Amino acid sequence: MIRMSGVSMVYSNGSVALSDVTVGIKKGDFVFVVGPSGAGKSTFIKLLFREIAPTNGHLFVNGREVGEMPLSEVPYFRRQLGIVFQDYRLLPNKTVYDNIAFAMAVIEAPRREIQKRVDHVLDLVNLRDKARTYPTQLSGGEQQRVAIARAIVNNPVLVIADEPTGNLDPDTSWEIIRIFEHINRDGTTIVMATHDKTVVDTMKKRVIAFEKGRVARDQEKGAYGYEN
Ligand code: ADP
Repeated sequence: MIRMSGVSMVYSNGSVALSDVTVGIKKGDFVFVVGPSGAGKSTFIKLLFREIAPTNGHLFVNGREVGEMPLSEVPYFRRQLGIVFQDYRLLPNKTVYDNIAFAMAVIEAPRREIQKRVDHVLDLVNLRDKARTYPTQLSGGEQQRVAIARAIVNNPVLVIADEPTGNLDPDTSWEIIRIFEHINRDGTTIVMATHDKTVVDTMKKRVIAFEKGRVARDQEKGAYGYEN
C-alpha cells in the first residue's frame, strides 16, 4: 500500500524534517506513528497524501509514485484516500449530512447512492440522528466522527489521520479509536500519528517511531515508548 524508500524532506528554509526514511506498509495494516514533537511525524503524514512532495527518494502510495505525480492528478489520487485531521475541518455552513454527501457529490455519484452511503457511514459512526444539525452544534468528538464518516464515504483503501484524538478527552478518544478499529477490520489500511500513549499501549498495533527525522523504531505489536 505504501512503499517509501530513501525519502528525505528538506523544507525551503533548510529545515531537514525527514532523512533517508525507508518503510513499507501493507494493505490492511494498522500503524501508529509516534515520536517527540518535531521528529517528522506530520511531514511523514503529509507526504502520504501529497500535501508535500519528497526532496529525495521514492514514495509509492496505492501503486502511484506520489513524488512524481503532476499536480493536476493530485485531486483524483486523494479520492482513494480518507484524511482525518486534529481540527476536524468540517464545512461550518453545511449540515452533517451535506458535509459527508459533498465528498461524494465531488465524484459525481448518483443521488440515491449518495443517500445510501451517507446513511451507512452515519450509522457506522453512530450519528444518524444528527444528520440535519450543523458542526457548531456538535461536541468535538461528534465533529470528529463526522470527519471520519466523510473520510470513509468513498470507500478509501487508506485512511491517514494526523493526531485525530489530539483535542479530545480520553473516553471520546476511545470512541474514535474503536471506529478506526472497525474500519480496519473491514480491510482499510490505517496510518495514524498520535501522542496518545494509552491508546498506543493498549491497542498493540505496529508502531513506527520517528526521532530527528529518522525511523528510530519499527515494531509489530509495539508500545508508545515515550513519557508524555
Ligand atoms: P512532528 O509532526 O513530529 O512534530 P514535523 O514533521 O511537524 O514534526 O516537523 C519536523 C521538522 O520539520 C521540525 O524541525 C519542523 O520545525 C520542521 N518543519 C515542519 N514543517 C515545516 C515547514 N512548513 N517549513 C519549515 N520547516 C518545517
